[in-house]
Amino acid sequence: MDGFSSSVTPLIENGFKITKTAQTVSDLLLDYTALASAPRIMTGAGVGDILAKFCCLTDWKISHLLFGEPYCFDAATLMHTALDECVSSLRSIQSGGREGIRALMNALLTSGFAMVLAGSSRPASGAEHHMSHYLEMDYLKRGEKIPLHGVKVGLGTMISLHLYHKLNEFDFEKKESVLAEAEKLPPVSFVRDALLSFGCPVRFSELGVSAETVRAMFFEAWKIRDRFTVLTMYNKNGWMKKTEEELMELYY
Ligand SMILES: [Zn+2]
Repeated sequence: MDGFSSSVTPLIENGFKITKTAQTVSDLLLDYTALASAPRIMTGAGVGDILAKFCCLTDWKISHLLFGEPYCFDAATLMHTALDECVSSLRSIQSGGREGIRALMNALLTSGFAMVLAGSSRPASGAEHHMSHYLEMDYLKRGEKIPLHGVKVGLGTMISLHLYHKLNEFDFEKKESVLAEAEKLPPVSFVRDALLSFGCPVRFSELGVSAETVRAMFFEAWKIRDRFTVLTMYNKNGWMKKTEEELMELYY
């Protein structure tokens, strides 16, 4: 995940997932031999946390377009660079060599720097992270082992992408400029194939969460933070009711 170099830290307080400002590290020591020999799913989780940036950057941009939320161009550009570099190194990361791992770690660390620049996790965390946090609280309640952050976030990314690509079916203000952002996003299949190549789950049922929890997540996860995302859009406009069945069918 990308928290090593960030200026925020997610904590668990009374079973609730919260994010607090943290001291940024002064030094980072990376052992690429150890990283390259990590279980494949851990590398996949790192990739999942980076591919998520497609969606959280779009959530941020759209919030800026619709509501004038402050948008840090430098942080967004830095994050886009990290994302592009990771995507163009995907083959090399999949091959498991040091070069690929170096590219992935660079992207994850750059993501942390983008958060420092923005002064919040906005460039690195959107609806896909809120869904992951929602599930995490469910595992905590049940006292069960929590799946890797990037694995859950990767699945959330597939949901966010699905929701973005479906926006053209609804009517809303500034639709044209919002759709222009959504059209820049890759298809769900791109993220699904990438996650599969690392042996990551691509259905929530593989994570050991109940269908009821996942369904509730579609309706509740946006409330975790006061931060506009594609999930906020679907829930506040009542579109989630029309979408939940297909999400369950395709992703549970
Ligand atoms: Zn993350």
